[in-house]
Amino acid sequence: MRFLLRVLPLLVLLLATAALATTLTSEQRFCPVCGEPIAVQQPMSTNDMGGQDRDLLRRAHGAQVFMEVVATCGQCGFTGWPADFDETKRRKRGGKVPGDGDELALTADQRQSIQGGALLRPESLSDVPFRAEAPYGDLPSWARLDMLAQTVALRGGDQERVADIYLQAAWAVRMGYHPVHLRGAEPSEAQRDWLFGRLTEFTEQAGELGMVNPADVEVWTGVRLLTGAESAPGDLRCLSAAYGASLMRSHGEHAALLESLATLEDCFPPTEWPGKAQAIRESVELERHYQRLARDGFVAALDQGSLEGEKAAITTYLVGEIERRLGEGPAARARFDEALAMAVPEGLELWILQQRCQIQHDDPVLGLLLCRGQSARGPAEPQAPAEPQAPVEPQSDPPATP
Ligand SMILES: [Zn+2]
Repeated sequence: MRFLLRVLPLLVLLLATAALATTLTSEQRFCPVCGEPIAVQQPMSTNDMGGQDRDLLRRAHGAQVFMEVVATCGQCGFTGWPADFDETKRRKRGGKVPGDGDELALTADQRQSIQGGALLRPESLSDVPFRAEAPYGDLPSWARLDMLAQTVALRGGDQERVADIYLQAAWAVRMGYHPVHLRGAEPSEAQRDWLFGRLTEFTEQAGELGMVNPADVEVWTGVRLLTGAESAPGDLRCLSAAYGASLMRSHGEHAALLESLATLEDCFPPTEWPGKAQAIRESVELERHYQRLARDGFVAALDQGSLEGEKAAITTYLVGEIERRLGEGPAARARFDEALAMAVPEGLELWILQQRCQIQHDDPVLGLLLCRGQSARGPAEPQAPAEPQAPVEPQSDPPATP
């Protein structure tokens, strides 16, 4: 798997135009609730060389800023972005700081709630001890984002804002998952050569199909590895299936990942496989936990009419895409249809058609193959007659997060 991790950034580099890596600098700040010193990470630069997943996750090459900048006070659990923490200790008792707007303003009730710890507890980490010997300091990114969503809700943040943070928590599960669970024995020299040849071939194929988004290219490569696994010679079947499945995990294509597990079962010793499969299923379920929280918040914001125009259209699409990833096909389909009737930004319509197309296939791997591949340059209905279609300009500037 280490080999794959070396190859993919190379493929991404070939496709990317920007070349800045993510850099962060650590600053000493103080908790605005209890005054505890805390090191926060300030982003100095980042990039989107990894492209964008279809649920709008912009992927940096290197560290992901949204996973690094959220800080949790190790003492009381207050969670925020760097601007939410006091720059000087004398401000710790001040509450609202002149010049900082309301960023640091916390009411007495809010402070009490935070210090009491009643609301601030990672929802999926019920066994994390509060103020125990290992309190909030070592939380993974997704748990800090969970804490942030709760803190922002406590401070009166609107539903869409909170939903957006829960979506980031889901992304943090995705980006933080290490595919070690799918790694078998280290590939031999011959196996590496074979795999490199396939990755090169599929990347070129993606280019011919008009894919310019590195995330799309990786998903395409993974799907081709999965669909080609059965016909791969000898021991390369397992190699192809394992690397394809790990790419599905990396991009949160849960249905295709879970479908591929059956192919992998006989690739590992019977004593190892149940544990690996269980770890994968648990990571999928954790990502889905946050996707459900995000979906519910976005739906509430849409129902309240607090989103308008293009933002409402993008959010409607996003809800559909989250539901697709949750395996809720009919609901996703209805959202995609709704979004298509709205003022969607240029480029997003193709995404909506392709994602809606996938739902119509019972086999999620086949759905990805047919809807992303054959239709990359044209309308994405699988039942459409095989007439030549007018080419659609490939998307070069993916839509921004709503
Ligand atoms: Zn604190």
